Parts: sequence; C-alpha cells; structure tokens
Amino acid sequence: MKKFQVRFPVEVIFGNGEVRQIGKVTKRFGKKVFLTVTPFMNEIGTTKRVKNYLDGEGLETLIYDEIQSNPSCDKIDEAAYFAKKERCDVVVGIGGGSAIDTAKAVAVVVGNGRSSWDYTQRTDHEVAQPTQATLPIIAVPTTAGTGSEATLYAVLTNPKIKEKSTIISSRVFPKTSIIDPGLTISVPPALTALTGFDALSHALESYINVNSNAYSELIALESMRLLFHNLPSAVADGQNIEARSKVAWAATLAGMAISHAGTVLPHAMGQPISGLYNAPHGGTIAACLVKIMEYSFTSNIEKFAYIAEAMDEDVKSLSIHQKAEKSIELLKQLSEEINLSVSFGNYGVQREDIPKIVDIVLKGFKQDVDAHPKKINKEEIENLYYECI
Ligand code: NAD
Repeated sequence: MKKFQVRFPVEVIFGNGEVRQIGKVTKRFGKKVFLTVTPFMNEIGTTKRVKNYLDGEGLETLIYDEIQSNPSCDKIDEAAYFAKKERCDVVVGIGGGSAIDTAKAVAVVVGNGRSSWDYTQRTDHEVAQPTQATLPIIAVPTTAGTGSEATLYAVLTNPKIKEKSTIISSRVFPKTSIIDPGLTISVPPALTALTGFDALSHALESYINVNSNAYSELIALESMRLLFHNLPSAVADGQNIEARSKVAWAATLAGMAISHAGTVLPHAMGQPISGLYNAPHGGTIAACLVKIMEYSFTSNIEKFAYIAEAMDEDVKSLSIHQKAEKSIELLKQLSEEINLSVSFGNYGVQREDIPKIVDIVLKGFKQDVDAHPKKINKEEIENLYYECI
C-alpha cells in the first residue's frame, strides 16, 4: 500500500437547519465579520436570517453581496480592500462555490496583502504563499457541488486574460463549515443537476487520480454511491430533504477527496471554458466528463470496475472488464436521468478557439493533466475538445 497522510483541519457541522449555529461558531474566531453572500440569498431572506444570528452573538457584520459566478480577482481585491479598511477579523462565505471562494481569497489578501491572483498556482508567475496571517474562514454552502467547504482551493478568474486559476493552500481550508441541506432546497432542477454532476466528477477524478490514496479512494467511492442513488431524486423533487441531504454530504465528501488527491483532465479541460466564456462550472465538466472517461477507462480497468460497483451493486456478477465498461454506461444513464445534455459548443466554443484553449490548459492546469491516469499529449487534448463541441 502507498504511504499517505490525512489532513483535514475543517470542523464540519452537518444537518438541516444547522445554519442557526453561524453566530456561535463565528464568535469563536472574531468580532467583526466580512460576510460574502450570493445575492440570491437576499431575495429569499437567508442573508437577513444569517445577519440576525450574527447580531444575536454581538458580532458586527459587513455584507458583501456583489458575488459573480466565476469570481474575478479584481472584484475580490476590491472587496479585500474594503474588509481591511473596516478591520474585519473573520470572513464568512454563504453561497455557491463562487461566494465561498470569494471569502477564501478575501481572507488571504486581507491577511497577506498583494493581489489575489498572485496566489494562484500557475507556471507563468511566481506563486505567492498565504501565511498564517490569513483571516479565519467560515463556509456555508448553498449549492451541493464544488465541495469548497471542504477544500484547500479557491478558484478565481482573471478578467484581463479571461483565465481561471486556483489558490492551493491549507490556509484556505475553512475553520468551520456548516452544511445545512435545507439551504439547497431553493436550487432549481437544472442547477441541482449541474452542481451535483460537478460533485460526482470530483469524486470520480480524485478516485482515478494517480495521486489517490486509501483514504481519498474510500470517501470518493462513498460520494459516488450517494450521488448515483440520490441525485436523480434531488433533481426531480427539490423539496426531498433526504435526497438533498445525501447529495450535500456527497459533495462535501468529494471536496475532501479532491483535497487529498486533486482533480484530473475533466477539470483541466472545463475550467478554461468557464474563464473564457463565463460558462457555469458544472456545465463545463458535464460537457466533457463522459467522453474523457470513455477515452481513459482502459488505463485502470480495476478502478473503473470499482466505480461501477459503487454506483450499481447489480454489476457484481460481471467480469472486471465488463464492469469497467459499465461504469461509462452508468454515467451516461445518470446524465440522461437528470436531463443533463450540454456540449462546449453550447457555451460558444468554436473549433478555431481550441488550440488557444489547450495552451491555457497546459499553463494553468498542468498538475491535473499530469495526474490523469492515462498519459495524454497536446494533440490528444485538442482532439477530445473537438469531440466535445
Ligand atoms: P456559483 O456559486 O457560481 O452559483 C451559481 C448560481 O447559483 C448563482 O446564480 C447563485 O446565485 C445560484 N445559487 C447559489 N445557491 C443557490 C440556492 N440555494 N438557490 C438558488 N440559487 C442558488 O456556482 P457553484 O457551482 O456552486 O460554484 C462554481 C464556482 O466554484 C466556480 O468558480 C468553480 O470554479 C468553483 N469551484 C471551486 C472549488 C473549490 O474547491 N474551491 C471546486 C470546484 C469548483
């Protein structure tokens, strides 16, 4: 067995209605709160509710609700300037991955200075490292997808070059994450499907990643099992709190899995499309996951067989090769069940854009390409993009 280390410094509070603990939790880390919140939370009264919980514990709160999907490093730097000027000492992110990643990057910049982009992992600049001066971060997800509540990542977009990159640092693990599945009830079916598929892809990518270990594999398989059995119910009936809970927990598990093993080619190919075309993150993954798995499953037949077993116990009697093939069929079946049918072309990608996109993949996401179980070169990545248009 390979050597490995488990490091998961996040306190997790899970349960329907548990957002009510936000005041008590936050009070442990500071007195003046910078709250980054998805604007939709204002419309449905969640922002007010959370503010009341914080007020109830005597905390002062500044609300920042200019969250955009695929958050821009410029807007984050502006928000951090404001948070620093106001001497905020703890950052709470409530929303999808965009609001939580904004909270994480603000915490880094307030504590360490510079621009948030300087901390992203890229081969074309010297990567700045966040120190322990990074403000404490509390995360409360309202989508069940990115797993940002359980990761050491914050994904930013640089609007000048239209590229996305990731801060990778244990300093951006939230101190506490409150996973309240009730907050995901308002997510509409199409977004439930996209974000759920993102979580599934995290679990799957971390599982086949060459850097996976016994711990990440265990939680990734459980995440895939939960998603395969519950995502269709959460999409079909958004009020089904049991299905919502299982999907929310699966997304968090998948976040823990990628924090230990990382993502591979689907994220490397999807992220640049969000940066260039402002496409939804889950959609860019859904556009390529099945094709990439078809291309890759022979690289580790045994692992793909286990994926099939996690998703469908009925495959037990099949041969290992048949099970591995079945894993691809099961993925297609799930996409159909949740009405997920997207291509890169839907987001505006043209054939002539692809060489430029592949350059971005190799500059910003090389670590994911290198960790993919099937070795792949530039031309093969280009061909996969052509197939996913
Ligand atoms: P998002 O945060 O961009 O939100 C998408 C939409 O969902 C927004 O319009 C938002 O208002 C809406 N929304 C959020 N919660 C809702 C609710 N409860 N009800 C109704 N609408 C709601 O989407 P996301 O997929 O959660 O996050 C995507 C971002 O996270 C991308 O930037 C992606 O790159 C990043 N990401 C981060 C990590 C990480 O580990 N940090 C991992 C994967 C992806």
